[in-house]
Amino acid sequence: MYSVPRTIFTEEHDMFRQSLRDFIAKEIIPNNAQWEKDKQVTRESWKKLGENGFLCLQAPEQYGGLEILDFRYNAIFIEELGLSGCSGPAIGYPLHSDIVFPYIHHYGSEPAKSKYIPKMISGDYIGAIAMTEPGAGSDLQAIRSTAEDKGDHYLLNGSKTFITNGFLCDVAVVAAKTDPSKGAKGISLFIVDKEMSGFTKGIPFDKVGLHAQDTCELFFEDVRVPKENLLGNVGEGFKYLMTELAQERLIVALAAIALAETTFLSTVEYVKNRPAFGKMVSDFQNTRFKLAEMGAKLEQGRIYADQLVMLHNSNKLDGAMASSAKYLMTELQCNVSDECVQLHGGYGYMWDYAVARAFADARVQRIYAGTNEIMKELIARKILD
Ligand SMILES: Cc1cc2nc3c(=O)[nH]c(=O)nc-3n(C[C@H](O)[C@H](O)[C@H](O)COP(=O)(O)OP(=O)(O)OC[C@H]3O[C@@H](n4cnc5c(N)ncnc54)[C@H](O)[C@@H]3O)c2cc1C
Repeated sequence: MYSVPRTIFTEEHDMFRQSLRDFIAKEIIPNNAQWEKDKQVTRESWKKLGENGFLCLQAPEQYGGLEILDFRYNAIFIEELGLSGCSGPAIGYPLHSDIVFPYIHHYGSEPAKSKYIPKMISGDYIGAIAMTEPGAGSDLQAIRSTAEDKGDHYLLNGSKTFITNGFLCDVAVVAAKTDPSKGAKGISLFIVDKEMSGFTKGIPFDKVGLHAQDTCELFFEDVRVPKENLLGNVGEGFKYLMTELAQERLIVALAAIALAETTFLSTVEYVKNRPAFGKMVSDFQNTRFKLAEMGAKLEQGRIYADQLVMLHNSNKLDGAMASSAKYLMTELQCNVSDECVQLHGGYGYMWDYAVARAFADARVQRIYAGTNEIMKELIARKILD
């Protein structure tokens, strides 16, 4: 049986994992098929996560958080969602807690932190991050949204696309140009609230996969953003993005390995029970070799992923290492889901089969959070530095 010994977790981590696993079994897995049809999870699910203390684990106690400063808990959260095979939740919930929340926590003004962090912990407010625009994805410096300083507020105009949690979001961290003449140094980040007049949303996109994810466009027309909603200093947004993107890429890597493992494990069961030529599919040498190749790579990936978590816990994970992790783990996920479809034969192409959905879901992992081509650029930059 495929299993990799884990050495980085304590009994407390295991207890947290078990309570989370029970929660996912009761509240997420039974609802995921409906959420995929609805193209979104429910607000109620966010509130339940909040009530059970699963959102924004690192949030300080002063805002009602648990202040758990140990990334292993975040890793368990991502891993268990990934192992459930519920890919929409596996991406959307961690994005809120481990990507959007850190921007507000690290760079928010005190009034903004007091206003938004408690609501993000409780699940009353759902977070999104809006960098990508129709004309600028990989090349973030080319964004065209603008935020003009009007004295007591910024006036935000522009649009964003492909925004995860976009349709349900109550609060979005938005990148905009405060000085279009300055390239990267002219980009700033803002907290935009659903209550702000001029902030509207598109409808969730029809995507190849991640059907329970409410990915959509966001529009900003003369949105008055209070000065206290600027994150950090004006003109430093690009620097903050580059800093925080390391954790975002690690999260995608951790989701990738867990989603790949669950696809692999269900395929092992399938081939053991599928007859052909008077044997089981698992009896063919080709199947055994394919399983061996995948199992070996997954084992390697799991040990690597655990070590990345420990490096991140001790602040030693740099941007290029996070890029390597994102690149390697998402390529592995795509490779495993493709091979697993093949081992299922025609059934692997049927949407009712988890492996078909896993195949479709995996593809985008090589695209968002920076494409894998951009990851290679970042890795090469460090090597050649
Ligand atoms: C489901 C989904 C969810 C997403 N969620 C979010 C979100 O929450 N927030 C957000 O801001 N964005 C989000 N994105 C956007 C995502 O990050 C971008 O799609 C991605 O960064 C690529 O940008 P692009 O689509 O404009 O492609 P482009 O930048 O146009 O790239 C097209 C191709 O050119 C290649 N390319 C570009 N530049 C280079 C280069 N320098 N060297 C080599 N090759 C290059 C790319 O690798 C790619 O293959 C999401 C996207 C999807 C599909």
